[in-house]
Amino acid sequence: MNALGRHILVEFSGCNAEVLNDVSIIERSMIEAAQIAGATVINSTFHHFSPWGVSGVVVIQESHLAIHTWPEYRYAAVDLFTCGDSVDPWVSFEHLKKAFQANYSAIEMNRGSLHVIKKSDFQPQHIRTKPSFDLEKGFQIERNVWFTDKDENQALSLRYTGEVLFDETNPFQRVRVLDSYSHGKFLAINNMVMCTERDEFHYHEMISHPIMQAHGNAKNILVIGGGDGGTIRELFKYNQVEKVTMVEIDESVIRASKEHLPNIASEFGNSKLNLIIGDGIQFVKEAAANSYDVIIVDGSDPVGPAQGLFTAEFYNNCKNALKEGGMIITQGESPMFHEGTFVELNQCLKGIFGKSQVHTMLFHATTYPSGMWSLQMGVKGNTHPAKDFNKDKARQFSNDKSLKYYNEDLHAAAFALPTFVRKMLGENA
Ligand code: SAM
Repeated sequence: MNALGRHILVEFSGCNAEVLNDVSIIERSMIEAAQIAGATVINSTFHHFSPWGVSGVVVIQESHLAIHTWPEYRYAAVDLFTCGDSVDPWVSFEHLKKAFQANYSAIEMNRGSLHVIKKSDFQPQHIRTKPSFDLEKGFQIERNVWFTDKDENQALSLRYTGEVLFDETNPFQRVRVLDSYSHGKFLAINNMVMCTERDEFHYHEMISHPIMQAHGNAKNILVIGGGDGGTIRELFKYNQVEKVTMVEIDESVIRASKEHLPNIASEFGNSKLNLIIGDGIQFVKEAAANSYDVIIVDGSDPVGPAQGLFTAEFYNNCKNALKEGGMIITQGESPMFHEGTFVELNQCLKGIFGKSQVHTMLFHATTYPSGMWSLQMGVKGNTHPAKDFNKDKARQFSNDKSLKYYNEDLHAAAFALPTFVRKMLGENA
């Protein structure tokens, strides 16, 4: 070759905008494009811009591949640069053209034409003796790719391996399981973290045990959502439970969890489980009155199928389905993230159960944006969940079951709200 390098500048247009805005697909496609051309990948760094667009580079032994995407223009600028002639960059080009379903224009330039430049007698002071990679171990691709759960102003990001263990999109939502460096595998719906192996017990213990301990003898329980299985896992720790009816709208969430999060999805085989794949909103509309001791709404944020889980109609139907003395709990968003929904939901519950029958807990949700998350309870009766529970029984239970988050002191403390939150909820500061 009469040049040191080959540089293909590619203009990809008419691309699939969703693909151009998906850092995991872009990163994976670029890595594959290098590998398919026989290049040796050393590392990759990819960044997902807000509100959209991805930029990244894959460093290869034979130089680099780089990309910047403008999903809103369905356009991506790609540079395929290889030195030596062991790798044909056009092979990478073909792979990306397919991956982005793109039209294109492309031009190849020789870089470092040997007609122009001559080798000098450069004697470097420092010769890098240690190869940049361990021949024994082969190439360790260091991938710097992040999953980000965000709104327009706040975000929670987890660095993950780049491998996508599960990825299915259905009419309701997109369901993924990814593997993070800091929190193990995690379930994501659309761009929201649902639960991670490292901290899922925070949420699942707090959505289950305060209400079960406060009720004291719940036998017939309804769970709306909860497809990862963490909530039913906690409920089946109670011997008095006779039946748990779980209504999950999306069977792929259950399948993904069973396959990749077995410690969370460990109770789907329980004989006391009545699993229904269906819309929880419709289910409570048709539910018989006075049926359940406890209802747990383990739903996602108010988007897509979960929107209706934040309405007065839904909670009216839930109250109707509860027995006298029954209790309901729902993931209540956060005073620091989606605070509007947090307050609206609280007012909605107070409108249905009565101001003094609604009680809010906060807990540390370390992989939800802001890290401060709420659970909101409504009681069909006068039991006060923070006061009217048997502390000794709660201590015994959390010890016997080796619970990792919930304990009798935290039970009471979780209902003690910071002053600014009391003010947000119009509760005496
Ligand atoms: N901990 C999570 C959170 O706080 O965002 C919730 C986890 S759980 C996986 C949420 C589940 O609710 C999902 O599996 C979703 O499919 C389900 N879901 C959403 N809307 C639903 C509906 N209308 N009926 C039944 N399940 C629903």
